[in-house]
Amino acid sequence: MPTATNTAHTHHGSEGSFFDQVNMMFDKAAVHTDFSPGLLNQIKICNSVYHMEFPLVRDNGEIEVIQAFRAEHSHHKQPTKGGIRYADAVNEDEVMALAALMTYKCAVVDVPFGGAKGGIKINRRNYSERELERITRRYTFELARKNFIGPGVDVPAPDYGTGAREMAWILDTYSSVTDNPLDALACVTGKPVGQGGVRGRTEATGRGVFYGIREACNHAEDMQALGLAPGLEGKTVVIQGLGNVGYHAANFLQEGGAVLVGLAEYEGAIYNPQGLDLEAVMTHRRQTESILDFPGAQNIPNSAAALELECDILVPAALEGQIRTDNAPRIQAKVIGEAANGPVTAAADTVLNEKGALIIPDMYLNAGGVTVSYFEWLRNLSHVRHGRMSRRFEEHSARRILQAVEMLTEKRFAADRFAKVVSDVAFGASEADLVNSGLEDTMVGAYNEIRELGKQHNTDLRTAAFVSSIKKVAASYQQMGIFP
Ligand code: GLU
Repeated sequence: MPTATNTAHTHHGSEGSFFDQVNMMFDKAAVHTDFSPGLLNQIKICNSVYHMEFPLVRDNGEIEVIQAFRAEHSHHKQPTKGGIRYADAVNEDEVMALAALMTYKCAVVDVPFGGAKGGIKINRRNYSERELERITRRYTFELARKNFIGPGVDVPAPDYGTGAREMAWILDTYSSVTDNPLDALACVTGKPVGQGGVRGRTEATGRGVFYGIREACNHAEDMQALGLAPGLEGKTVVIQGLGNVGYHAANFLQEGGAVLVGLAEYEGAIYNPQGLDLEAVMTHRRQTESILDFPGAQNIPNSAAALELECDILVPAALEGQIRTDNAPRIQAKVIGEAANGPVTAAADTVLNEKGALIIPDMYLNAGGVTVSYFEWLRNLSHVRHGRMSRRFEEHSARRILQAVEMLTEKRFAADRFAKVVSDVAFGASEADLVNSGLEDTMVGAYNEIRELGKQHNTDLRTAAFVSSIKKVAASYQQMGIFP
């Protein structure tokens, strides 16, 4: 199993705070709309932030004060939605920026939620499992007390440094204090499948990243403009971060015919222009506790330098602020697939666009996670597994159609041939099939929507994605009659 990564620190320095940068990119897009300054401002600002500090009794009996946050950026739709991260770099500005990105992300892919994000300022590697459980449960309790969690209020999910285990603790804590046990399962997503989770949620973000990059590569004229052949097949890829998102994105991209030439983790990076076998690299890392010294590959001890390797597609899948004005001029990739949130600073975004790179923006490309979270939330509120009532029916329908073909053509097919056709065609969709189909449809549809908008306004994809979400959020406010 892949482990969450702890790569470079957030680094925005002189380029402005993370939230400022999200807003700079918003402003660049807002000029392509004709909404009033008041409405645009209401969309931009962060509605509420809860900053809490609480004590943790450590395993050795000492007391440590823990700092944590939850930001709800926009209530134009409810509940609000977004992950919870455990990282040293967590602060108020970061959760506000990430919550804002969640608002725009949900709007781009038509997932009916407002944006939120939570963070606990800890390095999870420094705490035992029992300590992490105490921290998670206390955090959940604090959220519940202030009405910052609930199926119709605000629904957390995994993010950097958290996963299904933490979500199960959140569910259990919330369930013990709520007075609405019927819908309690929908208070958090990314849960284990046995605890109301939906099949396919773990891989969803990485799978969505793959669908998005594949769709971009399928537009022959866009590839031609970059000097690349159409299609994913044979394209060289460098991935930064092999956590849940990076690992699964790498896996699907490799399966889809791309060649992984560079992989970067916090201890360093490896490069092999002939291609790296992902599973072999993961096994090597588990055995030696480092990605370095992988047979046949070149070591790159400075992990950040991997971003500058020669490749067709660069996928930053770690933390924000990785590509800045200092390294942007040296980036060689033609396509940058933002699997992480905010990996490119606003100023670096300008540099890369001037160089002619195609940036597939975070708020679109990593939206697969929240899309499948939406499917999980629907499953929890409907109290039934997707496909449970239709699967057999679909299977039988297909079988009846095949029998009708036999009858109408008055031909008896050979029994073994008929059996083969039945097994190929006569099946009903399982939950995993439905989730993946909904995810693929969402990612492909949204890509073409922002691509068209970009053409219409003659802008890059990020600006187009912002225009798309600004329009959708504005429409919600206008329909509520708040801004005529
Ligand atoms: N943390 C993920 C993100 O940044 C998923 C959020 C969710 O599923 O609610 O998009």
